[in-house]
Amino acid sequence: MPVTVSDEDFQQILTQTRHFVRTAVIPREQEILDNDRVPDDLREHAQKMGLFGYAIPQEWGGLGLDLPQDVELAMELGYTSLALRSMFGTNNGIAGQVLVGFGTDEQKARWLEPIACGDVVASFALTEPGAGSNPAGLRTKAVRDNGNWVISGQKRFITNAPVAGLFIVFARTRPADERGAGIAVFLVPADAAGVDVGVKDAKMGQEGAWTSDVNFNDVRVDAGALIGGSEDIGYRAAMTSLARGRVHIAAIAVGTAQRALDESVAYATTATQGGTLIGNFQLVQAMLADQQTGVLAGRALVRDAARLWVSGEDCRIAPSAAKLFCTEMAGKVADLAVQIHGGSGYMRGVPVERIYRDVRLLRLYEGTSEIQRLIVGSNLVRAAQR
Ligand SMILES: Cc1cc2nc3c(=O)[nH]c(=O)nc-3n(C[C@H](O)[C@H](O)[C@H](O)COP(=O)(O)OP(=O)(O)OC[C@H]3O[C@@H](n4cnc5c(N)ncnc54)[C@H](O)[C@@H]3O)c2cc1C
Repeated sequence: MPVTVSDEDFQQILTQTRHFVRTAVIPREQEILDNDRVPDDLREHAQKMGLFGYAIPQEWGGLGLDLPQDVELAMELGYTSLALRSMFGTNNGIAGQVLVGFGTDEQKARWLEPIACGDVVASFALTEPGAGSNPAGLRTKAVRDNGNWVISGQKRFITNAPVAGLFIVFARTRPADERGAGIAVFLVPADAAGVDVGVKDAKMGQEGAWTSDVNFNDVRVDAGALIGGSEDIGYRAAMTSLARGRVHIAAIAVGTAQRALDESVAYATTATQGGTLIGNFQLVQAMLADQQTGVLAGRALVRDAARLWVSGEDCRIAPSAAKLFCTEMAGKVADLAVQIHGGSGYMRGVPVERIYRDVRLLRLYEGTSEIQRLIVGSNLVRAAQR
């Protein structure tokens, strides 16, 4: 059993994170946006706090938070520019958890410590052109050659690729058959010959968080690069890591929605129209009420989903339901926040304008809202048919 973090220790971590977010990062949000970059001193601060490895077990150098603790932290991190969270999101989440859950002891010993301390940024390379919502259709291939593997293919939209030291690469070793999807997962150092990282994508929002294409041109790795030492765990590793990640993304959405609500209340209680505070208009109060209701419902759902995950009661439906509800909710709350701000809400430099663009991504990555509905619905029907 991994070492768990006591409530008392966790409260300290949470308080420190909240303090960091509110006093050090929020005042620099505009700088992050303008420069499309999280400043180095904030990165170093986050590194010292252990944020690159908060969800990595302590035996491998991380803070060792479990998922219920992870979501509490995520709700704090979601309160500011989402670029901060993205900087260490792949280490703790989709990429790091593949190694934690499926790596051999040797692979964990080699990579988890540098990942946990932030010396190495790990990226999760699953999506390809034509294989996003349906990763089982991926075409990147890995072929055995003299005890090595040779990987070739194209990945796209890979978070943190421009700064990655390690790619967790999903590749096909054979066509899907009765044994499984035929997808394996490999550890590929970013400096391996044949790894070609494209230019940074120009995105709608989340300035400071970077993605790009990554091409693997006959990249040769040794047998020890095959995660878990088995060709057959890639697809399961991807699905498990994504399901866990969905609870985390749902919590991020709640944190951002809370910020949009707080900005809305602050505006409604200071801005006037014809001498009347806009917060005194009942139609504005109704918008605030809808925002608050969404945030409260989302927070309760996220906490429940995290609890069901660690108890093992539900690792499929609840993560997707939480991501679906919370990311859609954050979109609505952000939209209402712009509405409450009137024309000011449409202006660059106003936090809710940034939030409106930033949260749009949450409904797309780690499974679109449509895919979450399919997962929830199909699992309900399958369970009833059993
Ligand atoms: C900023 C950003 C960061 C990302 N980071 C990463 C990363 O680090 N690693 C990684 O591997 N990927 C990453 N992704 C990829 C992301 O997970 C995919 O973009 C997402 O899963 C959607 O896939 P797609 O873009 O191919 O869209 P598509 O799958 O083509 O979807 C297009 C539309 O079709 C719908 N659709 C698709 N299939 C079905 C179906 N069966 N039934 C009903 N509707 C369907 C979708 O819901 C959507 O509305 C990132 C993407 C972005 C934009």
